[in-house]
Amino acid sequence: MARLRGEGEEEVRLPRRGAGPVSRHFLTDIVWFNAAGFLALHAAGLIGVVAGLLWAKLLTDLWAFLLLFLTGQAVVIGAHRLYAHRAFKAAWVLRLAIVLLHTMAGQNSLYEWVRDHRQHHRYSDTHADPHNIHRGFFFSHVGWLMMRKHPLVVEKGRAIDMSDIEEDLLVMLQKKYYKFLYVICAFLVPVGVPVVLFGENIFTSIWVCFFARYVALLNITWSVNSLAHIYGCRPYHKGMMARDHPLVACLTWGEGWHNFHHCFPYDYRPGELGWVLDVSGRLVELLERWGLASDLRTASPAAVLRRAVICGDGSHPAAPTP
Ligand SMILES: [Zn+2]
Ligand SMILES: [Zn+2]
Repeated sequence: MARLRGEGEEEVRLPRRGAGPVSRHFLTDIVWFNAAGFLALHAAGLIGVVAGLLWAKLLTDLWAFLLLFLTGQAVVIGAHRLYAHRAFKAAWVLRLAIVLLHTMAGQNSLYEWVRDHRQHHRYSDTHADPHNIHRGFFFSHVGWLMMRKHPLVVEKGRAIDMSDIEEDLLVMLQKKYYKFLYVICAFLVPVGVPVVLFGENIFTSIWVCFFARYVALLNITWSVNSLAHIYGCRPYHKGMMARDHPLVACLTWGEGWHNFHHCFPYDYRPGELGWVLDVSGRLVELLERWGLASDLRTASPAAVLRRAVICGDGSHPAAPTP
């Protein structure tokens, strides 16, 4: 058995690569219902893209893009930086908006999202990581949602500390009434607004504002688990799979500076250097100016520099040239 150590102090045992008769991609059973569901969802999403390009009204397309951005920020700023990492504090108005927009994003309840993400950080790139990159691109992107969880994911997941989340009334209400809220926030509102306000055909609105919008955001979010663990450089820790890549950062509103994020997960900024592409970091600063966000946490420049010099792969501008 090979061993890897996650971000936490616990050690996770891994089967030696290639050992045993089972492929590393198929260590657990496929859940065919989920696989068929994601296939159908993506087919509907493609139809939605075609509908958006060919026959939807311009205002319908703009509405879908607006919701894509807002729901994306609810995931990136809300679920990720605020709730999973406590990178800043938010006024209750902002937290309410995040909970509603996160429900619109349709990525399970905030409780589940945060638990999976905290587990991803604690056991990164091991079998206890829900979307372990060592099981391949497809598994880390979407395959993990189509397969039974690895026993280590189940076992270690139970020990993830969620006490702070359990004290948050808004998050626990979302968890309790998730299906009811999902129908309203993710379907009725996005689809209904173009029909009522722009006179859009209801089926066109369903294709564009539900399916295409939903599938687009899912793939943007999943890209952080797949692309950002495969492509790019490792300026802060060359021993991690998480990487920095400007193209992935463009695609994900800044989340592509993933090596930085795994080294300093409590920092509200997606990355240290690529600030032009760090849309979500700039938005948190704007929310702070409006009095909706406070106590923004950052890694000290000295700590970042020290990490880059000692552990990085040499690609950081301040790293000594070999
Ligand atoms: Zn990651
Ligand atoms: Zn994170």
